[in-house]
Amino acid sequence: MAFSSFHPPQRTLMGPGPSDVNPRILEAMSRPTIGHLDPVFVGMMDETKVMLQKAFMTKNELTMPVSAPGSAGMETCFVNMVEPGDTVIVCSNGVFGGRMKENVTRCGATAIMVEDDWGKPVDPQKLEDALKTNPNASTVAFVHAETSTGAVSDAKTLVEIAHKYDCLTIVDAVTSLAGSPLKVDEWNIDAIYSGTQKCLSCTPGISPVSFSKAATTRIQNRKTPVQSWFMDLNLVMAYWGAGTQRAYHHTAPINSLYAFHESLVVLHEEGLENSWARHAKNHDGLKAGFEAMGLGFFVDEASRLPQLNAVNIPEGVDEAALRSTLLNSYNLEIGAGLGPMAGKIWRIGLMGHASSETNVLFCLGAMDAVLSDMGAKIDSGKAVSAAMKVFA
Ligand SMILES: *Cc1c(COP(=O)(O)O)cnc(C)c1O
Repeated sequence: MAFSSFHPPQRTLMGPGPSDVNPRILEAMSRPTIGHLDPVFVGMMDETKVMLQKAFMTKNELTMPVSAPGSAGMETCFVNMVEPGDTVIVCSNGVFGGRMKENVTRCGATAIMVEDDWGKPVDPQKLEDALKTNPNASTVAFVHAETSTGAVSDAKTLVEIAHKYDCLTIVDAVTSLAGSPLKVDEWNIDAIYSGTQKCLSCTPGISPVSFSKAATTRIQNRKTPVQSWFMDLNLVMAYWGAGTQRAYHHTAPINSLYAFHESLVVLHEEGLENSWARHAKNHDGLKAGFEAMGLGFFVDEASRLPQLNAVNIPEGVDEAALRSTLLNSYNLEIGAGLGPMAGKIWRIGLMGHASSETNVLFCLGAMDAVLSDMGAKIDSGKAVSAAMKVFA
């Protein structure tokens, strides 16, 4: 049998990630591979670090990309910040809070869960109550932007409360970075991780992380070694740290880091705040369109993420059939609901390069047509012009 090259179709990615990759970033990835200790490569690493600090709005020295996807950034934070026997308070309002709990348990620590309903932000009062009843807690973990529902939590307030009870914080910013306001230093976040394939519109497989002075001190003074050799920041720092010898730790994913570097150049050319504003504007257009169609949003307006839109599925619609028609006839990918939200919501991402007026109009037009063909009870023919009014 003869094998042949793989040529994927050209899709429009408007799900929960990956998002459409900017062609500039794909082009950067195809440049010649050089050695990971080549001085030219090391120069690019230094520049990447500075651009990443700007994107996180931090001066944290320990700021770098982990050579693996967002889940590995999550694990890097937990295995370095948590020791066996610790107590960690995990706020959970969706899928990713559940994964944090799993990380805590596997570190040999105890997870105290603070649960909120899916679609609601984390309740600061519930966190404070949990801290009062668990004075031995050393860490508070929560998801800033819950991609399973499209709800944003008040990270600044949650960190403030955690610090009041002498806890350090671990924050999941996989979906928030570059898509909506995130201020690591101003909000005093201690350990944070993100991903490349959401609002940075880079190829998947890299996880930017950053650690405050307090977090770094904790990591350097651990009683037990980090159980993961690969993720032990005490070792990784010797490769990414300033003024170090750049000792070999692992072979960096060189071409993926070209892509990551380019994604940060693209971000800073636009400007971080302009990127937030573009995400907000496109969300407004999408919202006007769905409302004109008669469809509602799952999350209350005050805690809605612009980059991840959970839209209620109208009654009687075969939601999987709609998604497969969009994929097969329009080359358009949108996301399904996860876990308890399956069959109840669609998750429509407006992330990074995919957050454009053109995509909003395309998605609304396509969904209007497919839903009408399926006989769904929608107000057809109004969505696109409602969005265009927002953009005018
Ligand atoms: C996507 C996502 C992750 C996991 O990132 P991967 O790159 O898929 O490993 C973690 N947390 C949140 C909030 C996410 O949206």
